[in-house]
Amino acid sequence: MSVTDALPASAGLIPTAPRMRSVTILGSTGSIGTSTVDVLRQAQAGGQDIRIEALCAGGRVEHLREQALALRPKLAVIADPAGYAALKEGLAGSGIEVAAGAEAVVEAAARPVDWTMAAIVGAAGLAPTLEALRNGGTVALANKECIVCAGALMLATARQYGATLLPVDSEHSAIFQSLTHPAAAERLCLTASGGPFRTKTLAEMKGMTPAQAIAHPNWSMGAKISVDSATMMNKGLELIEAAHLFDFPEDRIDVLVHPQSIIHSYVQYVDGSIIAQLGTPDMRTPIAFAFSWPERIAITSPRLDLVKIASLTFEAPDLGRFPALRLAREALRMGGLATAWLNGANEVAVAAFLGGRIGFLDIPAIAEDGLEAYSALRRNLAGEAVPEYSEVIEADRAARARAGQRICELAA
Ligand code: NDP
Repeated sequence: MSVTDALPASAGLIPTAPRMRSVTILGSTGSIGTSTVDVLRQAQAGGQDIRIEALCAGGRVEHLREQALALRPKLAVIADPAGYAALKEGLAGSGIEVAAGAEAVVEAAARPVDWTMAAIVGAAGLAPTLEALRNGGTVALANKECIVCAGALMLATARQYGATLLPVDSEHSAIFQSLTHPAAAERLCLTASGGPFRTKTLAEMKGMTPAQAIAHPNWSMGAKISVDSATMMNKGLELIEAAHLFDFPEDRIDVLVHPQSIIHSYVQYVDGSIIAQLGTPDMRTPIAFAFSWPERIAITSPRLDLVKIASLTFEAPDLGRFPALRLAREALRMGGLATAWLNGANEVAVAAFLGGRIGFLDIPAIAEDGLEAYSALRRNLAGEAVPEYSEVIEADRAARARAGQRICELAA
């Protein structure tokens, strides 16, 4: 047998004329949503038959209208009901159905499709993503907050309905691509750019503004994930995400700061081998992989030039300046609804920081306060069963209420 005969039969390019695939994009107007639209249009130009069932957005009516007119989905949904009239008018005569409100987003996600991109930001994406999993198709998961809040529930739902959950986060896509022998994997390593404040002192970080926090050195992303990268909560959320997606214990998942963001993550095996995935920091690559898996499609994203990059550097994360990583590990070890509390408190704190109501260092402090509140509460709770959806929603609500209170105290 030759070396190429030994390769898996599925290792190849996606066939040029595959079957028609129906697609829904949740969060189509965001950074991931826009990159997804680009990947799908490239795939269509390459001869693939892709039909868009639904596009869903939060509040950007004009962007959604433009996307809908270009992609011709059956349905366009705006979560903010205030956008309904403008969207309806903007799509009048197009034959595209229009709906608005959070319920309409969930209903759109419930329409059966082959592939759903889950790219809403925050826990707001949980209900529609669960609905998409109940369809039994493939769900490409960018919306990390929903797996952080309800990882066990999401995986149980995927199993129950026969859905395929694929990672989109570049680190998890890298691990997925490198996880050739899951049973022989010794450690997983998530790389982190370190964000815009990697070299700043705590005193410097204290005065950082939202504009400085969202100016990520390598990636162009939405505001919330950019702030999460600056606090390194993003890596904490990813650690929780990895533990769920790959069913791996927290103490065998490492985080390594790699400022160039070229090695997207890696797997270390029991024989000492390390398999990593490399590429330019461009989300179209992991999106294309999640769309074409188990094959690959050609897309025109920038190619990696290692000679130009010349050197790749690495450092250990500084848990003193970036406590969010420690909090994420604590939440994972705590179990129950701890990660939902951590996430809810963090989401509220990030929004308050972006709104100019609290300082940068207040974000991890509020997240920690949320985790402590859950820890105190948990002493009175019994059992460690997979939390129900209603319990996750209640934990998220309680964490947000408490964080809101803390923010008022800080602002007073
Ligand atoms: P953006 O803020 O750019 O986009 C968020 C999207 O969600 C927008 O389409 C927004 O609509 C929509 N949205 C917001 N709230 C609601 C709601 N209540 N109901 C329906 N839609 C809503 O975020 P990103 O694209 O950067 O991130 C999306 C998710 O992907 C996050 O969970 C993030 O952590 C994750 N991710 C992002 C990466 C990136 O490179 N950006 C990388 C890896 C993961 P509108 O704008 O119209 O209000």
